[in-house]
Amino acid sequence: MTRANRHSRLRSNMPSNSTAASLTFTPLMKKRLTHRAQAMIGRSLTYFPELQNKRITVGYTRAHLGSAVLTYQRESEPRLIIRLKVRKLTYQTIGHELTHLVQGLGRGQGNISSPFGWKSIPSGEKQCDIWTLARDPLFCDDAPTYLKLPRVMRERWLEYAGDVRKLCIKAIDKRESFRLYIRWLEGEIHKLTQRRPATPSVPEQLLLPFPDWD
Ligand SMILES: [Zn+2]
Repeated sequence: MTRANRHSRLRSNMPSNSTAASLTFTPLMKKRLTHRAQAMIGRSLTYFPELQNKRITVGYTRAHLGSAVLTYQRESEPRLIIRLKVRKLTYQTIGHELTHLVQGLGRGQGNISSPFGWKSIPSGEKQCDIWTLARDPLFCDDAPTYLKLPRVMRERWLEYAGDVRKLCIKAIDKRESFRLYIRWLEGEIHKLTQRRPATPSVPEQLLLPFPDWD
């Protein structure tokens, strides 16, 4: 490790200079948390500048993929809570729940430094999916839950993920002037599967002569 590295690492541990969100894991989550899940949550947060310096409680859920809640207390910062399932955790799920926190904070928060200069993220589940996918390819590791996707796309999501993300970015731009941007997006997503054959064409089987084993 170089001297500069060590210095910056030390500095990043000091709360006064820290820019990352500080995480508190609930007792139940501490029991379930794996190194992998913890690393995934930490990495995801680096893509959410809007959550810098916020305190986030991370709980465990078995019932859903995840959930997010903001509780408002008088004259203090809202409490930010996400709950995640640890098994088969995806960046898509973590990103979706963190986006809900940004949606909640967006109200009344003027100066947040969002990627792409987003001023706020409109509320709603489909909106949450769109803004999560658009944020970074990292969050495209699994299909979104609420956007309407053709079945073949859910089955072979990774083949379509990049194109869907591009459409989400376009849809966010379109929203400035077009109220039905989600309907437009779902239509364009549907077209993606029509452009390619549902199954790759199988070349005709070559008829090979069998050797005689007399
Ligand atoms: Zn949601």
